[in-house]
Amino acid sequence: MSAAPETFNPSPETQAWLAGEHNLLIDGQRVAAASGERIEVFDPATEALITTVAGAGPEDIDRAVAAARKAFKGEWAKLTSYERARLMFKFADLIEENMSLLAEVEVLENGMPRMISEYTIAKFGGEFVRYFAGWVTKIHGMTIPVSPSEARNGESLTYTKREPIGVVGAIIPWNAPLAMAILKLAPTLATGCTIVLKPAELTPLTALLLGELAQQAGIPDGVVNVVPGYGQAAGAALSEHDGVDKISFTGSTAVGKSIIKASAGNLKKVTLELGGKSPFVVFPDADMERVIPGAVRGAFFLQGQNCMASTRLFVHEDVFEPVVEGIAAMAGGMTPGPGLNPGSMLGPLISGDQRDRVMGYIEDGKASAAELRCGGEALPGKGFFVKPTVFGRTNMDMKIAREEIFGPVMCVQAFGDSELEDVAAEANATIYGLSGSVWTKDISVAHKMAGLIDSGQVSINCHAAVDPAIPFGGNKQSGWGREFGMEGLEPYLKTKATTVLF
Ligand code: NAP
Ligand code: MG
Repeated sequence: MSAAPETFNPSPETQAWLAGEHNLLIDGQRVAAASGERIEVFDPATEALITTVAGAGPEDIDRAVAAARKAFKGEWAKLTSYERARLMFKFADLIEENMSLLAEVEVLENGMPRMISEYTIAKFGGEFVRYFAGWVTKIHGMTIPVSPSEARNGESLTYTKREPIGVVGAIIPWNAPLAMAILKLAPTLATGCTIVLKPAELTPLTALLLGELAQQAGIPDGVVNVVPGYGQAAGAALSEHDGVDKISFTGSTAVGKSIIKASAGNLKKVTLELGGKSPFVVFPDADMERVIPGAVRGAFFLQGQNCMASTRLFVHEDVFEPVVEGIAAMAGGMTPGPGLNPGSMLGPLISGDQRDRVMGYIEDGKASAAELRCGGEALPGKGFFVKPTVFGRTNMDMKIAREEIFGPVMCVQAFGDSELEDVAAEANATIYGLSGSVWTKDISVAHKMAGLIDSGQVSINCHAAVDPAIPFGGNKQSGWGREFGMEGLEPYLKTKATTVLF
């Protein structure tokens, strides 16, 4: 494995887009921050400066929230559901037409391999918007037969309406910036809400580009506002803001807790998609041809900077050695490099700080009784690359097995012929409960184990199955509420009940 190699230039179209001004998008206008602040954006593969963007502060958040409030009551509210759906389909078309540009910008700001950005994430983004556009015309309430005391039986009726919750404040992380922005935009638009979107300070570009595409699609000014800025300034101002009706947050469990406190002022509604430390349980009859690549993909997708990452493998003693050996060989063979290089299979971590955090955990693992089976090092030279790292013979007393590392580190623990409940107790022995997977050909073991894992989603013979229609979200300290699917609309809606006496 060599150090970060040569770089590849983005296309002329991407270079032209990058040369733009990258101001805040508020009320359909590109505006500088009131303070004049600019935030530098770096390519984590080369450490080179890509560009700068305006950095919003509290005053800009005030302006953006006011624009979103005005738009919520304006032309947007008067559109029929068919018209709103049509705008969303147009937005999806534009995401698909601009997949290459979106992917190149995401690769530069985040570092992930281009294939993943373009064909996994941008493609998924278009489908996600289409899926939610399909819901627009199907959101409706109920009629309920009731008998309030004043009414004679059968002479009253209650009906409910599903109304948009209002102005949404969305705060997202850097690990999959394009997808994260789309996950917030699609249900906002589908329900007729408006949004102030704060991307991560490290990856603001794809969110700004999506804002431009939303404008091109004809979505009225002020419906989509994009305000890059620091978490402590822009993020905190948005979560405290009395003009915001709902916060949709994706990020760390620690910041999620501070969002809850900040939201208390006006009791705005809050949904949280937080961290994970997901188990991947391998029984001895599992198909090893699928387990080994499934584990490598599950753990090292996005360099392990993935909330659903399969970071804790529980492998039956009978197959422990071949599984660990197979994973170490495959992970050790992943070629690192800048995402625009078509040969790169593994990008850099997002920043020097993140690399140092992850290396701290790796050093902790090396000093423990766990066996280092591959990796264990950062690459020398430019870029924040860390080799895929596999620790065998871990246990849940070790820090590397308990805490979310958010980097390319997998812990593998053995189990014997124990009761399923005992295996599940170990799998559940974290504060998180986001994802998990079970690998076996025995249908009864598969379903029993899937039922015992305490997480918002479980996959059988695959890991972290993702589709716009599959509800996604965390149990325990992995979050509040669900995104995706029909349930993903709920947090953006409120129910109004009206009762009539005849
Ligand atoms: P983070 O530090 O929590 O940041 C997430 C977002 O919150 C960023 O936009 C950040 O701004 C902002 N923020 C920071 N402090 C804030 C504050 N006091 N008030 C309001 N906003 C604030 O998370 P991260 O390090 O970027 O991302 C990694 C974490 O996200 C991991 O724990 C991972 O598991 C989780 N994640 C969860 C999911 C999921 O769906 N469950 C998906 C992806 C990631 P700055 O950019 O300025 O810091
Ligand atoms: Mg942060």
